[in-house]
Amino acid sequence: MVCYADLALGHRLLKELPCDDDAVAALREDPPRALKRFWEALRPLQDQIRKELGSLVTAALAESKASDLRGCSHPSGGIEIDEVPDRGRCLKVTKPLTRGSVLIREFPVAKVLLESKEHSLHPETRLALVLSAKEEKTKVAQKLLDHGGRDASALRMRGVLACCCGLCIGNSIEKVVSLFGWLGRVRINAVAVTALVEADGDMVEDKVALALYPELARCVNHSCRPNGLLRFNAKESHLVELLISSPHKVAAGEEVTISYGPLASSMVRSERQAALRAQYGFECRCPSCASKVQDEDFHWKRKAQMLDDRARAAVQREAWQEAAIACSASVAMLREGFRDGDIELAREECKLAGLTLRAGDAVKAREIWAAACQVLRPLVLPADPDLQEAEEMLKRLPWPSIRQERPPSKDRSQATFATAASKIEVAAAMGGSMPDYRD
Ligand SMILES: [Zn+2]
Repeated sequence: MVCYADLALGHRLLKELPCDDDAVAALREDPPRALKRFWEALRPLQDQIRKELGSLVTAALAESKASDLRGCSHPSGGIEIDEVPDRGRCLKVTKPLTRGSVLIREFPVAKVLLESKEHSLHPETRLALVLSAKEEKTKVAQKLLDHGGRDASALRMRGVLACCCGLCIGNSIEKVVSLFGWLGRVRINAVAVTALVEADGDMVEDKVALALYPELARCVNHSCRPNGLLRFNAKESHLVELLISSPHKVAAGEEVTISYGPLASSMVRSERQAALRAQYGFECRCPSCASKVQDEDFHWKRKAQMLDDRARAAVQREAWQEAAIACSASVAMLREGFRDGDIELAREECKLAGLTLRAGDAVKAREIWAAACQVLRPLVLPADPDLQEAEEMLKRLPWPSIRQERPPSKDRSQATFATAASKIEVAAAMGGSMPDYRD
């Protein structure tokens, strides 16, 4: 757990500040007046605050000088933004759209990279500083909701942080008011940019940046079972694309949603709602949350995890047959909870295909990879490692009918199943062609 310098100082200062219910109400209703009181109370501590945060605030402001690509487009067309009473704006499609359709392509108006430094500011504070420093260029984002989550403790902390950063910059109370607004906007509108990164030999999805995409933020709502997803390209200036992920066509008039984090396939309702209330300050009324069924049952997930552990243990012993059987049972369990066409499920299927191949069943492995490819192709980037491997295996593994007809080739002695050191070499042994690259 990283302990952020600004939050640590904020907690200490909050103990000494006049922070009764009146102060909180004032922060909600008349921020400039309330912040002036905070500002006056904190000014005598300016030296201490600058000593603790000054250099970090300066470093965060320097991030705003990085020049970035900008802009937003709607490649597939067929969308409109609708106002719904009580719910605000929502994104609807005006023509039937299929899985993989790209509705919005947008570069962030501002971003900060996430690095786990010992001594740093919270990423939301850094992003708010960047946005407030670029105020001229971020007009498009200034209309976003800025309530910052609505709970009293978050509101107080936001007031103190705005004042502390303002005192480090040495500007006027106007800067503090601007920072307070940006801290609120960032809290409920910023998005964690994810990318596949290597960890312990596995490719895992991890958060690499925090960014604000104004078009996305202003119109795309949350659902715990969304029909859309965000695809990030960290290598291309953190470009984001909003895609249709639902395996079924989205009909004209339907709303497109994404998950702001909590998903019905991974969290029970009470946890999802608590998380959404704390971060965004709304009660989720998505179909999963509104359903009369009691909190979802996750027995399938626990069983799948148990079977997956068993498969991993078998892999350690190179007991491929056993590993493939355990992994296959685990994937069967996952199919109970995930919807067809889920990316996470497809990634597990890729794993299963690899083990099935090692266990000696190339035909079955090819079948599983082919199904996973169907899911991954429209949704992930071409450079995605699971997709690349699956595509490669489809090229290398024989079609069932061809395999049966082909006579044994002499080449096979050079790449045999018994000595194969990778899935690609196993495939080569099965298919009778030599591997031309190693993984
Ligand atoms: Zn929900």
